Amino acid sequence: MAKITQLLSMYSLMGLIRHLRMRIFGKELLITGNCHCCGNCCRKINLEGVGGWLRSEKEYHAVLDEYPEYERFQITGKDDQGFLQFSCTWLTDQNLCRDHDNRLPLCTNFPDKSLYFCGGTLPPGCGYTIVEVRAFDKYLEDEVKGEGK
Ligand code: SF4
Ligand code: SF4
Repeated sequence: MAKITQLLSMYSLMGLIRHLRMRIFGKELLITGNCHCCGNCCRKINLEGVGGWLRSEKEYHAVLDEYPEYERFQITGKDDQGFLQFSCTWLTDQNLCRDHDNRLPLCTNFPDKSLYFCGGTLPPGCGYTIVEVRAFDKYLEDEVKGEGK
């Protein structure tokens, strides 16, 4: 039970289903595309704390104690899965980052695969896509077994 609770804090129910389905079918995630600076990933975003994706204001304040740089985010509500949603106060009216050189790792790494496993989707209009594909080592295994012809 503790294991399931721990997994759900990392993945959400939808994310856990995705994770298990991919393991069963030997799939991995592929991210393709590019950024066209719409700014939508700086709005309505979920944030991750030490214990998983943030669900309460209390959890957010615990993150702030350790990472004051997260003060740039404002809580705007909750999503369908009960995770807090934030918007970044550094986003300008031109949909640009106020201090691009000092963005957080979560900004430079976007879109991270963990988004998919918290049950999330890319923001509307994002230039990237995340798709499940058959893992490369599965193709190799087929070749070794002579089934890839
Ligand atoms: S710091 Fe910049 S890139 Fe990161 S969420 Fe805020 S506005 Fe967006
Ligand atoms: S939502 Fe996608 S396209 Fe828009 S700024 Fe973020 S990464 Fe770029």
